[in-house]
Amino acid sequence: MSAGRHYQVDVIAGDGIGQEVMSAATVCVDAVAEACGFSIAWRDRDWGSDYYRSHGRMMPVDGLEQLADGDAILLGAVGAPDIPDDVTLWGLLIPIRREFLQYVNLRPVRILPGVSSPLRDADGLDMVIVRENVEGEYSEVGGRLYRGRPEEMAVQEAVFTRRGVVRIAEYAVAQAKARRGLLTSATKSNGIIHTMLFWDEVVAEVATAAGLEVDKMLIDALAARVVLKPRSLDVIVASNLFGDIISDLAAAAAGSIGVAPSANINPPKDHPSMFEPVHGSAPDIAGQGIANPVGQLWAAAMMLQHLGETEGADRLTAAFESALAAGVRTRDLGGQATTAEFTQAVLARCTDTS
Ligand code: ATP
Ligand code: MG
Repeated sequence: MSAGRHYQVDVIAGDGIGQEVMSAATVCVDAVAEACGFSIAWRDRDWGSDYYRSHGRMMPVDGLEQLADGDAILLGAVGAPDIPDDVTLWGLLIPIRREFLQYVNLRPVRILPGVSSPLRDADGLDMVIVRENVEGEYSEVGGRLYRGRPEEMAVQEAVFTRRGVVRIAEYAVAQAKARRGLLTSATKSNGIIHTMLFWDEVVAEVATAAGLEVDKMLIDALAARVVLKPRSLDVIVASNLFGDIISDLAAAAAGSIGVAPSANINPPKDHPSMFEPVHGSAPDIAGQGIANPVGQLWAAAMMLQHLGETEGADRLTAAFESALAAGVRTRDLGGQATTAEFTQAVLARCTDTS
């Protein structure tokens, strides 16, 4: 391990509990960085809902340029009840994902120690969802016609490109090969006969070329399987919309939305990748100091892994898992610990070398 490894990470803590869980993450990452011989310069970006209220936009006009030379982006949560969801999405998250070609959304789903699943048969559940993150159903192609008239209509096109499907399939195949070798592709080609049939063909081509079999499943049946036989799943590859739905379902199956992480990855590393918890700003509990920081900590561990700091990633993961296993839990997990108390328990374990 060479000394002097230094990274520049942009921090968008954002709104509500985003601010609270972010402080937990940066302090713990700094501790593992020191223990592992690297350092991180955090560049704080005060973007999000407050920025929107005073500037009429979620981030500065040149926001993307400001992020471009960083090594990674760590995001808390953006969104507030008085700001429409599409403003948050199209004003910050989608531009970042697209500008930096973060075409993979990677969501690991595992039952953590001390966290119980609402499912009967979930012990040992361990899967990753590889969601296509920049094309597919979330497209700007379409429009509205005959507004307010009886014949009014809305049309929205899904856009799938060969390049887009090949690269997400390749990423998923590599994940499957590094894991249990089981690849399940979410589809709906019995009903959506153009784009989904194309998806099936390209995913199968990529998998076959790599010597892997792909299990193609209709999204409805796959949703049922997540609930009924979650342990039978290893790597799921899915389009933007199907991946969005199935990953929230899987995160809920793993016990709490507060513990789930999400990574928006640019695999060639030409641009910064972005790491965030799955949960939102949770205005109902914001400011009370009771938010669960595990989703943010796990996202930070994925960031360290992406930066090549595997030892740091493992140390951070072991630290929050050990705190949970010792019974330190926030309220959403049935415990009593505050965010600060849980963070202290993780911090103590980040530097513990015994
Ligand atoms: P947004 O609109 O930004 O998505 P939200 O209010 O919808 O925010 P979600 O993340 O969808 O928040 O979470 C739904 C609920 O789950 C929250 O209102 C909160 O009660 C709970 N929750 C979410 N994240 C956490 C967390 N980290 N710790 C504790 N409770 C959480
Ligand atoms: Mg929400």
